[in-house]
Amino acid sequence: MSRGKQLYEGKAKVIFEGEEPQTVIQYFKDDATAFNAQKKGTINGKGILNNLITGHIFTHLENLGIPTHFIEHINDREQLVRHVDIIPVEVIVRNIAAGSICKRLGLEEGQPLDDTLVEYCYKSDEHGDPVISGEHAVVLGWATEEELEIMHYMTLRINDFLSGLMVGMGIRLVDFKLEFGRFVDEDGEEYVILADEISPDTCRFWDLETGEKLDKDRFRRDLGGAEDAYQEIARRLGVLPENFNA
Ligand code: UDP
Repeated sequence: MSRGKQLYEGKAKVIFEGEEPQTVIQYFKDDATAFNAQKKGTINGKGILNNLITGHIFTHLENLGIPTHFIEHINDREQLVRHVDIIPVEVIVRNIAAGSICKRLGLEEGQPLDDTLVEYCYKSDEHGDPVISGEHAVVLGWATEEELEIMHYMTLRINDFLSGLMVGMGIRLVDFKLEFGRFVDEDGEEYVILADEISPDTCRFWDLETGEKLDKDRFRRDLGGAEDAYQEIARRLGVLPENFNA
């Protein structure tokens, strides 16, 4: 599998043309950023681990009937995915209050929420990914009502599945971010499918017993041990390669 020209470089991934017209190659970097890229660093081996973790979770989701962009792993840092037009609305799912919502609304970190909270953010680094309502997305033309409905439905199913998977590994799924894209198949039919990644970069994972943070907050908050945390998630998911050495 040879990759074509680079189409896009993001903060944690690079996208290349694939061999087939409706595919692209997603390359995972070790680069880490936080606070809208004001803080930059490296988490050694992160790209390899996030490639494995995302592929594993997306495969499970596909098996549950949730359509995703994931096709197959190519090598330790690359996966073949369906080419989508990313919907510029990030979906944030919260089971427990943490991170930005605590600052925004004066909540205490760790406070359980009465129900799963789904928030939307406008995907724009320039504007700092502001929180928006569904109405903003529709009126401003970022997504249709129907697309939001599909995204919301899939998001709740993903949360149920992922929360259960994580509890089985002794981990609390605190919150996470999803991105969806529009995929056009060979017959010209357009579908909304899950894209991007699900990894410790995009989720908050807390150990059920100790409360230890096993995600990117270790980097954001200078807690140390980010490499070990990503490896621990991969290990509990059963995808950590033997003798893994970042
Ligand atoms: N998140 C993400 N990318 C973003 C914003 C948030 O992956 O651009 C994830 C983040 O890792 C966390 C969840 O979404 O698991 C909620 O993030 P929050 O809004 O609390 O923002 P943060 O505190 O990460 O700035």
